Amino acid sequence: MSIVVVGSVAYDDVETTRGNVTDALGGSASFFAVAARFFTPVSVVAVVGSDFKAEDRQRLVDRGIDLRALEQREGKTFHWHGRYHEDMNVRDTISLELNVFEGFAPNLLPDQRRCDYLFLANIAPELQERVLSQVSTPKLVAGDTMNHWITETHDELVKLLSRIDILTLNDEEARLLSGEHNLVKAGRAILAMGPRVLLVKRGEYGVLQFSKEGMFAVPAYPLEEVVDPTGAGDTFAGGMMGFLARHGRVTESSLRTAVVYGSVMASFVVERFSLDRLFELTWEEIDNRYRAFIDLIDSHHSRWITQ
Ligand code: AMP
Repeated sequence: MSIVVVGSVAYDDVETTRGNVTDALGGSASFFAVAARFFTPVSVVAVVGSDFKAEDRQRLVDRGIDLRALEQREGKTFHWHGRYHEDMNVRDTISLELNVFEGFAPNLLPDQRRCDYLFLANIAPELQERVLSQVSTPKLVAGDTMNHWITETHDELVKLLSRIDILTLNDEEARLLSGEHNLVKAGRAILAMGPRVLLVKRGEYGVLQFSKEGMFAVPAYPLEEVVDPTGAGDTFAGGMMGFLARHGRVTESSLRTAVVYGSVMASFVVERFSLDRLFELTWEEIDNRYRAFIDLIDSHHSRWITQ
């Protein structure tokens, strides 16, 4: 089953304690699509400027990503500049230029309007809404956003939430959206806004899932070295939704497996800058880390300690 994703395709300047990159390929839709493509076909709905490099387009095409709905317009590609603190869970946005995204009005192709899985990656809620309204009968709609949109376009975003099945946010965004500092209270308040499932991404502390069935938590895969956390959230979403689309059924147990696959994919992207690690990743590496992850969280051993 294929996924349609709308989000940003960007050039990023990123500074971390491990180094800097400028004009590196990024954007929420790019990270999502490259991660999800390991599981299932993906179409990207976005816009880039005349400065978008042919080699970057080719890198996405080579991974089998459908770019028929990636428009190229006169002007500059979306540009984001972020700086991470020593504690890489914390970052500052130094600048954010929407560029060609201003005035962008995406139109899906007939086959994309019939998609079963839709991901509204982080971009203006107005664009997320426009894409959502063109999809006829989606089986599953998931979405993401960022503090910028929570504060700048709060009402549009809240309106959208009632039409989203799975919402992914980081902890800071969950607090901002709900006005609650405690994450359990924040989770409950956000579920009351519409989504059936809320996945709170907590950087190196992992993911907390809220649904009416209760809570589920997974840690992040422990890594010796994190080079660049940019895109971890979108990559998590790509692995999570890619698994669900490939599996074809959304149940409490497939959702839990999907959260683990999302965490596995996110654990790779942070090992290098930009999309570099994802572009060289193999299915065998994913499979091995998935097994290592299951081993990490498997509690069977603890059972015989108490018996
Ligand atoms: P993440 O680290 O998962 O939050 O995603 C980082 C990516 O999101 C970067 O590649 C940026 O280009 C992109 N990005 C940053 N801010 C925004 C925004 N307000 N809207 C859309 N995309 C953004």
